[in-house]
Amino acid sequence: MSFTLPALPYPHDALEPYIDKMTLEIHHGKHHNTYVTNVNKALEPYPELQKLTLEELLANWCEKVPEAARQAVIGNGGGTWNHNLYWVVMGPKCGGEPGGKLAQAIKSTFGSFATLKEKMVEAGLKRLGSGWSWLAKTKEGKLEVYSTLNHDSPIMEGKTPIFVIDVWEHAYYLKYQNRRADYLNAIWNLTNWKEVEKRYAQ
Ligand code: MN
Repeated sequence: MSFTLPALPYPHDALEPYIDKMTLEIHHGKHHNTYVTNVNKALEPYPELQKLTLEELLANWCEKVPEAARQAVIGNGGGTWNHNLYWVVMGPKCGGEPGGKLAQAIKSTFGSFATLKEKMVEAGLKRLGSGWSWLAKTKEGKLEVYSTLNHDSPIMEGKTPIFVIDVWEHAYYLKYQNRRADYLNAIWNLTNWKEVEKRYAQ
């Protein structure tokens, strides 16, 4: 058993004009694919670990993975998992505002949807180098916004990620160059709130 690259749930040009076709082709077909290849490679010497799900492997900072392979699995397993989420919480004909219980939770936690957006954009802008800006649910069911470095993921610390923005340069550089803020603000036109609401309810 090995992990595979999931197909994109929409065509490569479906997120235009906010995310361009070439960025999506390279990001999914090359970057994401490389993480999948490399996590499989890192697990090659460990047949027992190959029976685990990605979530099981990543739990508690990959405590089940021997130290010799741990950083490779944190980086490439995290890279695989995080991108799997990133593609499905975006989509064409999305955007707008969240509804249902999630909308209530956002209001009671952050005061308003606008404030949530500001906080996620700010977390993404403050992340030096490469990383991710997250909306996650804690074990107690509380919403949190924060960023992580490289491919570190809230699931490594027992939280449930429900929405994410990739803030590695490869996610936006071809179209936005140094204007990370423009990319971070454009993403909200693509947010698949139905998917995010489903993950919040789980
Ligand atoms: Mn990426």
